[in-house]
Amino acid sequence: IKHLVWLRNDLRWRDNPALYYASLSGSIRVLVSATPEQWQEHNESNAKTGLRAGLIQRLFEQLATLGIPAEVICAPRFEDLPSAMEDYCLMHGIEHIWFNQELPIDEQQRDQMVCQQLKSKGIENHPQATDLLVSQPVLSQQSTPFKVFTPFFKRWLSLLSVQDWQPLPEPEKQADAISFKAPEMPWIQPYREDLWTPDQEVAKQKLWHFCHTKEADYETQRNYPIDPATSTLSPYLALGALGPRECIFAIMYACEQAGRRWQESVWLKELAWRDFYRQLMGHFPFLAMGKPFKAETDFIQWNQEETLFNAWTQGNTGFPIVDAAMRQLNQTGWMHNRLRMISASFLSKLVFADWRKGEEYFMRHLIDGEFSANNGGWQWSASTGCDAAPYFRVFNPTRQSETYDANGDFIRRFVPELAELDARSIHNPSASQRAQCHYPLPILDYRTSRLAAIQAFADLKEIK
Ligand code: FAD
Repeated sequence: IKHLVWLRNDLRWRDNPALYYASLSGSIRVLVSATPEQWQEHNESNAKTGLRAGLIQRLFEQLATLGIPAEVICAPRFEDLPSAMEDYCLMHGIEHIWFNQELPIDEQQRDQMVCQQLKSKGIENHPQATDLLVSQPVLSQQSTPFKVFTPFFKRWLSLLSVQDWQPLPEPEKQADAISFKAPEMPWIQPYREDLWTPDQEVAKQKLWHFCHTKEADYETQRNYPIDPATSTLSPYLALGALGPRECIFAIMYACEQAGRRWQESVWLKELAWRDFYRQLMGHFPFLAMGKPFKAETDFIQWNQEETLFNAWTQGNTGFPIVDAAMRQLNQTGWMHNRLRMISASFLSKLVFADWRKGEEYFMRHLIDGEFSANNGGWQWSASTGCDAAPYFRVFNPTRQSETYDANGDFIRRFVPELAELDARSIHNPSASQRAQCHYPLPILDYRTSRLAAIQAFADLKEIK
Protein backbone atom coordinates (compact mmCIF):
# COMPACT_ATOMS: atom_id res chain seq x y z
CA ILE A 1 0.00 0.00 0.00
CA LYS A 2 1.58 3.21 -1.15
CA HIS A 3 -1.20 5.73 -0.52
CA LEU A 4 -1.92 7.18 2.90
CA VAL A 5 -5.08 9.16 3.66
CA TRP A 6 -4.50 11.50 6.58
CA LEU A 7 -7.75 12.45 8.34
CA ARG A 8 -8.28 15.18 10.93
CA ASN A 9 -11.64 16.98 11.14
CA ASP A 10 -13.18 15.00 8.30
CA LEU A 11 -14.16 11.80 10.07
CA ARG A 12 -16.44 10.31 7.45
CA TRP A 13 -16.18 7.60 4.86
CA ARG A 14 -18.71 9.06 2.40
CA ASP A 15 -18.23 12.33 0.53
CA ASN A 16 -14.65 12.59 1.69
CA PRO A 17 -12.52 13.88 -1.24
CA ALA A 18 -9.12 12.74 0.08
CA LEU A 19 -10.41 9.28 0.93
CA TYR A 20 -12.34 8.81 -2.28
CA TYR A 21 -9.78 10.12 -4.76
CA ALA A 22 -6.92 8.29 -3.05
CA SER A 23 -8.91 5.07 -3.33
CA LEU A 24 -9.14 5.56 -7.10
CA SER A 25 -5.36 5.82 -7.32
CA GLY A 26 -4.43 2.56 -5.64
CA SER A 27 -4.79 0.73 -2.38
CA ILE A 28 -4.88 2.94 0.67
CA ARG A 29 -4.48 2.99 4.39
CA VAL A 30 -5.94 5.61 6.70
CA LEU A 31 -4.24 7.50 9.48
CA VAL A 32 -6.01 9.79 11.94
CA SER A 33 -3.75 12.13 13.86
CA ALA A 34 -4.64 12.78 17.49
CA THR A 35 -2.98 15.83 19.05
CA PRO A 36 -4.39 16.04 22.59
CA GLU A 37 -2.12 18.84 23.89
CA GLN A 38 -2.84 20.94 20.82
CA TRP A 39 -6.57 20.39 21.26
CA GLN A 40 -6.25 21.57 24.85
CA GLU A 41 -4.40 24.66 23.69
CA HIS A 42 -7.18 25.30 21.17
CA ASN A 43 -9.69 24.96 24.03
CA GLU A 44 -11.44 21.97 22.49
CA SER A 45 -14.06 20.60 24.88
CA ASN A 46 -14.11 17.18 26.49
CA ALA A 47 -17.47 16.62 24.85
CA LYS A 48 -16.03 17.21 21.40
CA THR A 49 -13.07 14.97 22.18
CA GLY A 50 -15.47 12.24 23.32
CA LEU A 51 -17.55 12.45 20.16
CA ARG A 52 -14.39 12.51 18.08
CA ALA A 53 -13.20 9.23 19.63
CA GLY A 54 -16.56 7.58 18.98
CA LEU A 55 -16.57 8.74 15.36
CA ILE A 56 -13.05 7.46 14.77
CA GLN A 57 -14.01 4.06 16.11
CA ARG A 58 -17.12 3.88 13.91
CA LEU A 59 -15.17 5.07 10.87
CA PHE A 60 -12.53 2.39 11.36
CA GLU A 61 -15.21 -0.30 11.68
CA GLN A 62 -16.63 0.75 8.34
CA LEU A 63 -13.21 0.97 6.67
CA ALA A 64 -12.45 -2.56 7.87
CA THR A 65 -15.48 -3.83 5.94
CA LEU A 66 -13.96 -2.23 2.81
CA GLY A 67 -10.63 -3.90 3.48
CA ILE A 68 -8.94 -0.60 4.37
CA PRO A 69 -6.55 -0.65 7.34
CA ALA A 70 -6.76 2.37 9.66
CA GLU A 71 -4.76 3.60 12.64
CA VAL A 72 -4.56 6.49 15.05
CA ILE A 73 -1.23 8.21 15.54
CA CYS A 74 -0.85 10.20 18.72
CA ALA A 75 1.49 13.21 18.79
CA PRO A 76 0.97 15.75 21.58
CA ARG A 77 1.13 18.86 19.40
CA PHE A 78 1.05 19.83 15.73
CA GLU A 79 4.81 20.47 15.77
CA ASP A 80 5.39 16.84 16.76
CA LEU A 81 3.56 15.56 13.71
CA PRO A 82 6.21 15.92 10.97
CA SER A 83 8.61 13.44 12.53
CA ALA A 84 5.82 11.12 13.74
CA MET A 85 4.31 11.08 10.27
CA GLU A 86 7.69 10.57 8.65
CA ASP A 87 8.40 7.53 10.85
CA TYR A 88 4.97 6.14 10.06
CA CYS A 89 5.31 6.66 6.30
CA LEU A 90 8.78 5.15 6.14
CA MET A 91 7.69 2.15 8.20
CA HIS A 92 4.78 1.49 5.81
CA GLY A 93 6.51 2.34 2.54
CA ILE A 94 4.14 5.22 1.81
CA GLU A 95 4.78 7.19 -1.39
CA HIS A 96 1.70 9.44 -1.52
CA ILE A 97 -0.20 11.27 1.16
CA TRP A 98 -3.75 12.60 0.69
CA PHE A 99 -5.61 15.03 2.93
CA ASN A 100 -8.41 17.62 2.89
CA GLN A 101 -7.11 21.13 3.51
CA GLU A 102 -8.12 23.19 6.54
CA LEU A 103 -8.22 27.00 6.67
CA PRO A 104 -7.24 28.09 10.20
CA ILE A 105 -3.66 29.30 10.39
CA ASP A 106 -2.26 26.71 12.83
CA GLU A 107 -3.77 23.93 10.77
CA GLN A 108 -2.34 25.38 7.54
CA GLN A 109 1.11 25.61 9.15
CA ARG A 110 0.79 22.04 10.43
CA ASP A 111 0.09 20.81 6.92
CA GLN A 112 2.96 22.79 5.46
CA MET A 113 5.39 21.40 8.05
CA VAL A 114 4.28 17.82 7.47
CA CYS A 115 4.31 18.13 3.67
CA GLN A 116 7.78 19.68 3.67
CA GLN A 117 9.17 16.94 5.86
CA LEU A 118 7.59 14.18 3.79
CA LYS A 119 8.59 15.77 0.53
CA SER A 120 12.21 15.71 1.66
CA LYS A 121 11.80 11.92 1.85
CA GLY A 122 10.31 11.76 -1.64
CA ILE A 123 6.69 11.39 -0.51
CA GLU A 124 4.26 13.26 -2.73
CA ASN A 125 1.35 15.13 -1.22
CA HIS A 126 -2.15 15.52 -2.69
CA PRO A 127 -4.10 18.23 -0.85
CA GLN A 128 -7.84 18.29 -1.61
CA ALA A 129 -10.35 21.12 -1.39
CA THR A 130 -11.36 22.26 2.06
CA ASP A 131 -14.69 21.30 3.61
CA LEU A 132 -16.81 24.19 2.30
CA LEU A 133 -19.70 24.39 -0.12
CA VAL A 134 -17.72 26.90 -2.15
CA SER A 135 -14.11 26.07 -1.49
CA GLN A 136 -12.57 28.67 -3.80
CA PRO A 137 -12.25 32.16 -2.24
CA VAL A 138 -15.53 34.06 -2.64
CA LEU A 139 -14.35 37.52 -3.68
CA SER A 140 -15.88 40.84 -4.71
CA GLN A 141 -15.43 42.34 -8.18
CA GLN A 142 -12.32 44.08 -6.84
CA SER A 143 -10.98 40.64 -5.86
CA THR A 144 -11.19 41.46 -2.17
CA PRO A 145 -12.83 39.35 0.52
CA PHE A 146 -16.37 40.34 1.50
CA LYS A 147 -16.71 41.84 4.95
CA VAL A 148 -20.50 41.83 4.89
CA PHE A 149 -22.56 38.69 4.66
CA THR A 150 -25.34 39.68 2.23
CA PRO A 151 -23.15 40.46 -0.82
CA PHE A 152 -20.99 37.46 0.10
CA PHE A 153 -24.10 35.31 0.02
CA LYS A 154 -25.16 36.58 -3.41
CA ARG A 155 -21.78 35.85 -4.90
CA TRP A 156 -21.55 32.55 -3.03
CA LEU A 157 -24.89 31.46 -4.42
CA SER A 158 -23.81 32.27 -7.98
CA LEU A 159 -20.65 30.21 -7.55
CA LEU A 160 -22.55 27.41 -5.89
CA SER A 161 -25.01 27.01 -8.70
CA VAL A 162 -22.32 26.17 -11.24
CA GLN A 163 -20.83 23.43 -9.13
CA ASP A 164 -21.45 19.78 -9.05
CA TRP A 165 -22.53 18.92 -5.54
CA GLN A 166 -23.42 15.31 -5.85
CA PRO A 167 -21.79 13.88 -2.70
CA LEU A 168 -18.89 11.54 -3.41
CA PRO A 169 -19.45 7.85 -2.74
CA GLU A 170 -17.54 5.84 -0.16
CA PRO A 171 -14.03 4.72 -1.18
CA GLU A 172 -13.62 1.76 -3.47
CA LYS A 173 -13.57 -1.56 -1.67
CA GLN A 174 -9.97 -2.66 -1.88
CA ALA A 175 -9.96 -6.18 -0.46
CA ASP A 176 -12.03 -8.59 1.55
CA ALA A 177 -13.12 -7.27 4.91
CA ILE A 178 -10.35 -7.21 7.48
CA SER A 179 -10.84 -7.72 11.18
CA PHE A 180 -11.56 -4.57 13.10
CA LYS A 181 -9.30 -3.72 15.99
CA ALA A 182 -10.48 -0.87 18.22
CA PRO A 183 -7.85 1.89 18.16
CA GLU A 184 -6.19 2.93 21.39
CA MET A 185 -7.35 6.38 22.36
CA PRO A 186 -6.19 7.11 25.90
CA TRP A 187 -7.40 10.72 25.52
CA ILE A 188 -11.05 9.61 25.16
CA GLN A 189 -13.62 11.54 27.26
CA PRO A 190 -17.21 10.83 28.27
CA TYR A 191 -19.91 12.97 26.64
CA ARG A 192 -23.68 12.97 26.07
CA GLU A 193 -23.72 10.01 23.71
CA ASP A 194 -27.48 9.73 24.24
CA LEU A 195 -27.84 13.03 22.34
CA TRP A 196 -25.18 12.56 19.65
CA THR A 197 -24.62 8.97 18.57
CA PRO A 198 -21.09 8.72 17.18
CA ASP A 199 -22.11 7.48 13.77
CA GLN A 200 -22.26 9.29 10.45
CA GLU A 201 -25.21 7.12 9.37
CA VAL A 202 -27.21 8.45 12.30
CA ALA A 203 -26.19 11.99 11.37
CA LYS A 204 -27.33 11.38 7.82
CA GLN A 205 -30.70 10.03 8.94
CA LYS A 206 -31.09 13.06 11.17
CA LEU A 207 -30.28 15.30 8.20
CA TRP A 208 -32.87 13.70 5.93
CA HIS A 209 -35.48 13.64 8.65
CA PHE A 210 -34.84 17.33 9.31
CA CYS A 211 -35.06 18.23 5.63
CA HIS A 212 -38.34 16.37 5.20
CA THR A 213 -40.08 17.48 8.37
CA LYS A 214 -38.58 20.75 9.60
CA GLU A 215 -36.62 22.54 6.90
CA ALA A 216 -39.72 24.13 5.35
CA ASP A 217 -40.69 25.75 8.66
CA TYR A 218 -37.14 26.61 9.67
CA GLU A 219 -37.54 30.32 8.96
CA THR A 220 -40.48 30.76 11.31
CA GLN A 221 -39.58 28.20 13.97
CA ARG A 222 -35.82 28.33 14.31
CA ASN A 223 -35.72 30.83 17.17
CA TYR A 224 -37.60 28.82 19.78
CA PRO A 225 -35.26 26.76 21.93
CA ILE A 226 -37.76 24.50 23.70
CA ASP A 227 -38.14 21.92 20.96
CA PRO A 228 -35.42 22.92 18.55
CA ALA A 229 -36.64 23.33 15.01
CA THR A 230 -33.00 23.55 13.95
CA SER A 231 -31.10 20.52 12.72
CA THR A 232 -28.79 20.00 15.76
CA LEU A 233 -26.26 18.68 13.27
CA SER A 234 -23.50 21.10 14.27
CA PRO A 235 -21.41 18.56 16.25
CA TYR A 236 -21.26 16.30 13.19
CA LEU A 237 -20.47 19.18 10.85
CA ALA A 238 -17.72 20.45 13.17
CA LEU A 239 -15.93 17.10 13.17
CA GLY A 240 -16.67 16.37 9.56
CA ALA A 241 -18.81 13.28 10.22
CA LEU A 242 -21.22 14.99 7.88
CA GLY A 243 -20.11 17.07 4.94
CA PRO A 244 -21.89 20.20 3.73
CA ARG A 245 -22.48 18.67 0.27
CA GLU A 246 -24.66 15.98 1.86
CA CYS A 247 -26.65 18.81 3.42
CA ILE A 248 -27.22 20.75 0.23
CA PHE A 249 -28.13 17.58 -1.59
CA ALA A 250 -30.79 16.83 1.02
CA ILE A 251 -32.08 20.44 0.88
CA MET A 252 -32.43 20.29 -2.89
CA TYR A 253 -34.24 17.00 -2.75
CA ALA A 254 -36.65 18.15 -0.04
CA CYS A 255 -37.32 21.47 -1.82
CA GLU A 256 -37.92 19.72 -5.11
CA GLN A 257 -40.41 17.34 -3.49
CA ALA A 258 -42.25 20.28 -1.93
CA GLY A 259 -42.16 22.44 -5.06
CA ARG A 260 -39.94 25.11 -3.49
CA ARG A 261 -36.81 26.80 -4.83
CA TRP A 262 -33.79 25.44 -2.96
CA GLN A 263 -31.92 28.73 -3.49
CA GLU A 264 -34.43 30.37 -1.16
CA SER A 265 -33.98 27.89 1.67
CA VAL A 266 -33.21 29.82 4.85
CA TRP A 267 -31.38 26.79 6.18
CA LEU A 268 -29.05 26.95 3.18
CA LYS A 269 -28.16 30.46 4.33
CA GLU A 270 -26.90 29.04 7.62
CA LEU A 271 -24.53 26.81 5.68
CA ALA A 272 -23.42 29.94 3.84
CA TRP A 273 -22.64 31.58 7.21
CA ARG A 274 -20.48 28.56 7.97
CA ASP A 275 -18.54 29.14 4.74
CA PHE A 276 -18.42 32.91 5.38
CA TYR A 277 -16.77 32.64 8.79
CA ARG A 278 -14.39 29.92 7.65
CA GLN A 279 -13.30 31.93 4.64
CA LEU A 280 -12.84 35.02 6.82
CA MET A 281 -10.49 33.02 9.01
CA GLY A 282 -8.47 32.12 5.92
CA HIS A 283 -8.35 35.74 4.68
CA PHE A 284 -7.64 37.37 8.04
CA PRO A 285 -5.37 35.12 10.12
CA PHE A 286 -5.23 37.77 12.87
CA LEU A 287 -8.73 36.61 13.83
CA ALA A 288 -7.15 33.39 15.06
CA MET A 289 -4.69 35.38 17.15
CA GLY A 290 -7.15 36.90 19.60
CA LYS A 291 -7.62 40.10 17.60
CA PRO A 292 -10.96 41.81 17.01
CA PHE A 293 -12.00 42.52 13.45
CA LYS A 294 -12.52 46.19 14.35
CA ALA A 295 -9.07 47.09 15.65
CA GLU A 296 -10.27 50.14 17.62
CA THR A 297 -12.36 47.93 19.91
CA ASP A 298 -9.12 46.61 21.40
CA PHE A 299 -8.99 49.89 23.36
CA ILE A 300 -12.16 49.09 25.27
CA GLN A 301 -11.68 48.72 29.02
CA TRP A 302 -13.59 45.54 29.74
CA ASN A 303 -14.97 44.73 33.16
CA GLN A 304 -12.61 42.24 34.79
CA GLU A 305 -14.78 41.34 37.77
CA GLU A 306 -14.47 37.59 38.14
CA THR A 307 -17.59 37.17 40.30
CA LEU A 308 -19.84 38.41 37.50
CA PHE A 309 -18.09 36.24 34.94
CA ASN A 310 -18.34 33.21 37.22
CA ALA A 311 -22.04 33.80 37.81
CA TRP A 312 -22.50 33.77 34.03
CA THR A 313 -20.52 30.55 33.54
CA GLN A 314 -22.47 28.78 36.26
CA GLY A 315 -25.90 29.94 35.15
CA ASN A 316 -26.48 32.03 38.29
CA THR A 317 -26.95 35.52 36.91
CA GLY A 318 -30.51 35.91 38.15
CA PHE A 319 -31.68 36.31 34.52
CA PRO A 320 -33.63 33.09 33.98
CA ILE A 321 -33.18 32.77 30.22
CA VAL A 322 -29.42 33.40 30.45
CA ASP A 323 -29.11 30.89 33.28
CA ALA A 324 -31.15 28.28 31.41
CA ALA A 325 -28.91 28.78 28.36
CA MET A 326 -25.68 28.40 30.31
CA ARG A 327 -26.97 25.35 32.13
CA GLN A 328 -27.97 23.80 28.81
CA LEU A 329 -24.39 24.32 27.65
CA ASN A 330 -22.87 22.94 30.86
CA GLN A 331 -25.15 19.90 30.94
CA THR A 332 -25.34 18.92 27.29
CA GLY A 333 -22.41 20.59 25.47
CA TRP A 334 -24.79 22.33 23.07
CA MET A 335 -26.77 25.56 23.10
CA HIS A 336 -29.52 26.77 20.80
CA ASN A 337 -28.46 29.59 18.44
CA ARG A 338 -30.93 32.15 19.82
CA LEU A 339 -29.60 31.44 23.29
CA ARG A 340 -25.99 31.73 22.13
CA MET A 341 -26.84 35.23 20.94
CA ILE A 342 -28.67 36.15 24.16
CA SER A 343 -25.98 34.73 26.36
CA ALA A 344 -23.06 36.22 24.41
CA SER A 345 -24.76 39.62 24.26
CA PHE A 346 -25.36 39.44 28.02
CA LEU A 347 -21.70 38.75 28.79
CA SER A 348 -20.13 41.11 26.29
CA LYS A 349 -22.55 44.03 26.53
CA LEU A 350 -24.16 43.93 29.98
CA VAL A 351 -21.48 42.30 32.13
CA PHE A 352 -19.12 44.06 29.70
CA ALA A 353 -16.56 41.27 30.07
CA ASP A 354 -13.95 40.78 27.38
CA TRP A 355 -15.70 38.73 24.66
CA ARG A 356 -12.59 36.56 24.38
CA LYS A 357 -13.32 35.10 27.82
CA GLY A 358 -16.78 34.09 26.66
CA GLU A 359 -15.41 32.76 23.40
CA GLU A 360 -12.96 30.57 25.32
CA TYR A 361 -15.61 29.35 27.75
CA PHE A 362 -17.89 28.35 24.87
CA MET A 363 -15.07 26.52 23.09
CA ARG A 364 -14.18 24.64 26.27
CA HIS A 365 -17.75 23.42 26.66
CA LEU A 366 -19.35 23.20 23.21
CA ILE A 367 -19.50 19.78 21.57
CA ASP A 368 -19.70 21.61 18.23
CA GLY A 369 -16.92 24.08 19.14
CA GLU A 370 -15.61 25.33 15.83
CA PHE A 371 -13.14 28.18 15.96
CA SER A 372 -14.35 30.29 13.06
CA ALA A 373 -18.10 30.03 13.81
CA ASN A 374 -17.50 30.62 17.50
CA ASN A 375 -15.20 33.56 16.96
CA GLY A 376 -17.61 34.97 14.37
CA GLY A 377 -20.57 34.56 16.72
CA TRP A 378 -18.78 36.21 19.62
CA GLN A 379 -17.43 39.09 17.60
CA TRP A 380 -20.89 39.59 16.10
CA SER A 381 -22.46 39.71 19.56
CA ALA A 382 -19.79 41.97 21.03
CA SER A 383 -19.97 44.36 18.02
CA THR A 384 -16.22 43.97 17.47
CA GLY A 385 -16.56 41.81 14.37
CA CYS A 386 -17.12 42.02 10.69
CA ASP A 387 -20.79 42.51 9.80
CA ALA A 388 -21.42 42.59 13.54
CA ALA A 389 -24.47 43.73 15.47
CA PRO A 390 -24.39 47.57 15.74
CA TYR A 391 -22.90 48.54 19.10
CA PHE A 392 -26.12 50.13 20.34
CA ARG A 393 -28.02 46.89 19.85
CA VAL A 394 -28.08 45.30 23.28
CA PHE A 395 -30.42 42.37 23.77
CA ASN A 396 -32.85 42.77 26.63
CA PRO A 397 -32.76 39.26 28.14
CA THR A 398 -36.22 39.54 29.66
CA ARG A 399 -37.83 40.68 26.37
CA GLN A 400 -35.97 37.95 24.50
CA SER A 401 -37.22 35.41 27.01
CA GLU A 402 -40.83 36.56 26.70
CA THR A 403 -40.62 36.38 22.92
CA TYR A 404 -38.78 33.13 22.37
CA ASP A 405 -39.75 31.13 25.46
CA ALA A 406 -43.20 32.63 25.97
CA ASN A 407 -44.52 29.87 28.26
CA GLY A 408 -41.24 29.62 30.13
CA ASP A 409 -40.96 25.90 29.39
CA PHE A 410 -37.32 26.08 28.39
CA ILE A 411 -36.49 27.91 31.59
CA ARG A 412 -38.42 25.32 33.61
CA ARG A 413 -36.38 22.52 32.03
CA PHE A 414 -32.98 23.94 32.91
CA VAL A 415 -33.75 26.11 35.94
CA PRO A 416 -35.97 23.70 37.86
CA GLU A 417 -36.06 25.89 40.96
CA LEU A 418 -38.37 28.21 38.95
CA ALA A 419 -40.57 25.40 37.63
CA GLU A 420 -43.62 26.38 39.70
CA LEU A 421 -43.73 29.98 38.50
CA ASP A 422 -46.39 31.05 36.00
CA ALA A 423 -45.63 32.02 32.39
CA ARG A 424 -45.72 35.74 33.20
CA SER A 425 -43.42 35.95 36.20
CA ILE A 426 -40.93 33.26 35.23
CA HIS A 427 -39.03 35.65 32.93
CA ASN A 428 -38.25 38.07 35.74
CA PRO A 429 -39.43 36.82 39.14
CA SER A 430 -40.09 39.27 41.96
CA ALA A 431 -37.69 39.48 44.89
CA SER A 432 -40.01 37.43 47.10
CA GLN A 433 -40.49 34.76 44.43
CA ARG A 434 -36.72 34.54 44.03
CA ALA A 435 -36.27 34.14 47.78
CA GLN A 436 -38.92 31.40 47.87
CA CYS A 437 -37.37 29.55 44.94
CA HIS A 438 -33.79 29.99 46.23
CA TYR A 439 -32.98 31.77 43.00
CA PRO A 440 -30.49 34.68 42.95
CA LEU A 441 -31.30 38.35 42.48
CA PRO A 442 -30.13 39.80 39.13
CA ILE A 443 -26.37 40.42 39.19
CA LEU A 444 -26.81 43.67 37.27
CA ASP A 445 -29.35 46.26 36.27
CA TYR A 446 -30.21 45.96 32.56
CA ARG A 447 -30.84 49.65 31.92
CA THR A 448 -27.70 51.09 33.52
CA SER A 449 -25.47 48.33 32.11
CA ARG A 450 -26.87 48.86 28.63
CA LEU A 451 -26.27 52.61 28.73
CA ALA A 452 -22.73 52.15 30.06
CA ALA A 453 -21.89 49.74 27.22
CA ILE A 454 -23.30 52.06 24.57
CA GLN A 455 -21.37 54.97 26.06
CA ALA A 456 -18.10 53.00 26.05
CA PHE A 457 -18.52 52.25 22.34
CA ALA A 458 -19.58 55.84 21.59
CA ASP A 459 -16.44 57.15 23.36
CA LEU A 460 -14.41 54.85 21.17
CA LYS A 461 -15.93 56.42 18.08
CA GLU A 462 -14.75 59.82 19.28
CA ILE A 463 -11.20 58.51 19.81
CA LYS A 464 -11.31 57.10 16.30
P1 FAD B 1 -28.85 24.88 12.22
O1 FAD B 1 -29.66 26.08 12.45
O2 FAD B 1 -29.54 23.63 11.85
O3 FAD B 1 -27.78 25.26 11.09
C1 FAD B 1 -27.15 24.27 10.26
C2 FAD B 1 -25.66 24.39 10.32
O4 FAD B 1 -25.23 25.63 9.77
C3 FAD B 1 -25.09 24.36 11.73
O5 FAD B 1 -24.98 23.04 12.21
C4 FAD B 1 -23.75 25.04 11.52
O6 FAD B 1 -22.80 24.15 10.98
C5 FAD B 1 -24.08 26.09 10.47
N1 FAD B 1 -24.40 27.37 11.09
C6 FAD B 1 -25.61 27.78 11.54
N2 FAD B 1 -25.54 29.04 12.01
C7 FAD B 1 -24.26 29.42 11.86
C8 FAD B 1 -23.55 30.62 12.16
N3 FAD B 1 -24.15 31.69 12.69
N4 FAD B 1 -22.22 30.66 11.90
C9 FAD B 1 -21.60 29.61 11.34
N5 FAD B 1 -22.21 28.45 11.04
C10 FAD B 1 -23.53 28.36 11.30
N6 FAD B 1 -21.62 27.13 15.44
C11 FAD B 1 -20.76 26.11 15.42
O7 FAD B 1 -20.90 25.21 14.59
N7 FAD B 1 -19.73 26.04 16.33
C12 FAD B 1 -19.53 27.01 17.28
O8 FAD B 1 -18.58 26.92 18.05
C13 FAD B 1 -20.45 28.10 17.32
N8 FAD B 1 -20.33 29.06 18.28
C14 FAD B 1 -21.23 30.12 18.28
C15 FAD B 1 -21.08 31.12 19.25
C16 FAD B 1 -21.97 32.20 19.27
C17 FAD B 1 -21.79 33.28 20.30
C18 FAD B 1 -23.01 32.27 18.33
C19 FAD B 1 -23.97 33.42 18.35
C20 FAD B 1 -23.16 31.28 17.37
C21 FAD B 1 -22.28 30.19 17.33
N9 FAD B 1 -22.41 29.16 16.37
C22 FAD B 1 -21.51 28.13 16.36
C23 FAD B 1 -23.43 29.24 15.31
C24 FAD B 1 -24.78 28.56 15.63
O9 FAD B 1 -25.23 28.96 16.89
C25 FAD B 1 -24.68 27.04 15.62
O10 FAD B 1 -24.07 26.60 14.41
C26 FAD B 1 -26.06 26.40 15.71
O11 FAD B 1 -26.70 26.80 16.88
C27 FAD B 1 -25.92 24.88 15.69
O12 FAD B 1 -27.16 24.28 15.79
P2 FAD B 1 -27.82 23.52 14.57
O13 FAD B 1 -26.88 22.50 14.06
O14 FAD B 1 -29.16 23.06 15.01
O15 FAD B 1 -27.93 24.69 13.51
